[in-house]
Amino acid sequence: MLKPNFIRVIIDRAIHRELDYLVPETLADRVSVGSRVRVPFRDKSALATVVAVLDRSEAEGIRPIEAIVGETPVLSKELLELARWMSAYYCCPIETVMRSLLPQVIRRAEIGWKKQLFVQPADKIPPDELEKLRRRAPRQVELLEAINKLKVPMLATELLRKTSLDNQTLRALAKRGLVELREGDVPRDPHGDEKFIATGNLELNAEQILALKEITDALDSPEKARPILLHGVTGSGKTEIYLQGIRAALQRGRSAIVLVPEISLTPQTVERFKGRFAEAQDDVAVLHSHLSEGERHDEWHKIHSGRARIVIGARSAIFAPLKNLGLIIVDEEHETTYKQEEAPRYHARDVAAVRAKIEKCVVVLGSATPSLESYHNAGSGKYELATLTQRVDQQQMPLMRIVDLRQERRKEKAASILSEKLRAAIAVRLEKHEQTILFLNRRGFSTSLLCSNCGEARNCPNCSVALTFHRHPAAAGRLSCHLCGHTAAVPKKCPACGKDALIYSGFGTEKVESTVAQIFPTAVVKRMDADSMTRKQAYRETLLSFRAGKIDILVGTQMIAKGLHFPNVTLVGIINADLALHMPDFRAGERTFQLLTQVAGRAGRGETSGEVFVQTYTPFSPSIQFARHHDFAGYFQQELEFRERCDFPPFKHAVLITIRSAHEARAKFSAETLARRLKEALGSEFILGDPTPAPLEKLQGQFRFHILIRGEAIVRLSRLVRETLDKLPFPEDVTVAVDVDPYQLL
Ligand code: ADP
Ligand code: ZN
Repeated sequence: MLKPNFIRVIIDRAIHRELDYLVPETLADRVSVGSRVRVPFRDKSALATVVAVLDRSEAEGIRPIEAIVGETPVLSKELLELARWMSAYYCCPIETVMRSLLPQVIRRAEIGWKKQLFVQPADKIPPDELEKLRRRAPRQVELLEAINKLKVPMLATELLRKTSLDNQTLRALAKRGLVELREGDVPRDPHGDEKFIATGNLELNAEQILALKEITDALDSPEKARPILLHGVTGSGKTEIYLQGIRAALQRGRSAIVLVPEISLTPQTVERFKGRFAEAQDDVAVLHSHLSEGERHDEWHKIHSGRARIVIGARSAIFAPLKNLGLIIVDEEHETTYKQEEAPRYHARDVAAVRAKIEKCVVVLGSATPSLESYHNAGSGKYELATLTQRVDQQQMPLMRIVDLRQERRKEKAASILSEKLRAAIAVRLEKHEQTILFLNRRGFSTSLLCSNCGEARNCPNCSVALTFHRHPAAAGRLSCHLCGHTAAVPKKCPACGKDALIYSGFGTEKVESTVAQIFPTAVVKRMDADSMTRKQAYRETLLSFRAGKIDILVGTQMIAKGLHFPNVTLVGIINADLALHMPDFRAGERTFQLLTQVAGRAGRGETSGEVFVQTYTPFSPSIQFARHHDFAGYFQQELEFRERCDFPPFKHAVLITIRSAHEARAKFSAETLARRLKEALGSEFILGDPTPAPLEKLQGQFRFHILIRGEAIVRLSRLVRETLDKLPFPEDVTVAVDVDPYQLL
């Protein structure tokens, strides 16, 4: 191999440039593409990633690197290629992409393996030593005998626990040279103390066999494979296909990544995967945001070293450094949490498709409610489509009943929380000892505090939203802003007009919980949302006791909408189906349809069939009507027509530029200037919208303006936007963010 004299690096700072350095002879054979190095930068040091090894460099004043950080190259050529694609596509500096690609604990290489003491027998034990001991220190002899039986070194703490002897005794033996103490690596396995019961492959039904065959065929000729969209109703056995697909990949000597939304990365999910591959539990690594830095270090190295062959994780697990990647599964591919809302603003599903192309592996996108994008791709032949139409247990889809809140409202005021029909249905479940889930995607008790005299609402001083009143435990008895966390005391009188005329209005999960508890005083009611689940274990505990039947009614936000299996739930109430529908967003209808279908999938997974009540003020909107009849094709058809007519995705790509500043006028002026420059740069190939105040005009003290651009040639558009931005000097207090394929239009 060529001896590297020069390297090109990307340093961990946004300088938008790659730099060349010299490699001292002594380090030369340890540096390659993907290595991490410390380099002099200006008058300090900086960490950097090697992206090329050169035999010469034109750079002036070239300086030598200072050190190599960590050991083997941390980034493969394929991942580097992926990073370059992300940078170009998402209009984002490569340094920022690198931050997502490599966890901080790996980039900095400051945390190493956890060290602990291991014990093993000493090489030789003088016989007279033992005799002396027998008389004077019988406990040391006892311990020594236990140690001499060891075939492999054992953790000191474990040995002492097993023998019920103490550390002092062990130290004494070591001092006499009778045993050997050595530091060794111990894995910080987040699931190390759990036992997983081994499960075998289930016998697949006819539809599942076809779907699996698509995957195995693709695995056999991955260079020709197209992404596979697995569209299967909830409970149709998609996960079983993932499991057998992974098995097939392993049998071909390849590895696999399973992406699930963070919220579905429950103990149940982990258990299903660890259980199926229980014969080699170490094979399965889990990556999610609740790992400690040490655990993340260990899981990452377990993957990087090739010990783990299967990775389950949330969004960023798409960057898991597996070698010989054969299969990427994206479960619930329609989930918006796959989109990262900070730079790099990537969508893990789309990155998965690109990584699959680079690594020549198979990608499977699964969902009961595919995104319009993926469904469209399947329709146009870009993706392969596999469909599961039946639930495995032959269960009927739940019966969906629409409750028109306009009529209920006429009867009594409280009916807008629980209609008469829903109330009656809950009562029946309580009698039969069956469980109910009530869903409302809004936290808090009252969602606003209004003055009935002057009409003023208590708004957040930093954001253009009303403050929510909480009873407990979040911001107990106070008003709080869900966007910036600002809290305020509840005023006695209206601060605007001085009248004692304040009224609470609107409701969130807290109020649903308390209303339900009042109506059904004997029922056990629990709430599950970001406020009540602040403790790390609370989520797990609540799910366990719900599963065990100790809770009759579970009230919650989207936390309970996803992928959970509860056989005894026969009723689901959607308290207000309109919340998502009236968002100023072209995806509002799609989201509502998906949400209704997903939440409905929670009902009737056991012996008895389920019932779903959808409370709404707009009973005839298409998303509600099509969801009611479980008519995916019908919904997609009409929604696609709408999108095409309006030049929205999936027919055109969108780029959303947000310009913000604490000074409204400056944000506005910058937005207008940028729009003018874009107009010159983009020509007529792209649809450029006027700069407008964002729907959420003010957020965390910043005034926000939007520019929306649509077009087909997205990489070209990205480049033109980047070039235009680079040429414009923005005032220091103006921030510009570019979001390619945006999911948040607020
Ligand atoms: P999905 O992921 O589509 O919601 P799952 O894979 O979780 O569906 O399957 C739902 C239930 O049916 C699970 O309890 C699973 O173990 C079971 N199941 C899946 N496939 C089969 C099969 N072929 N035979 C028997 N049970 C199955
Ligand atoms: Zn706020």
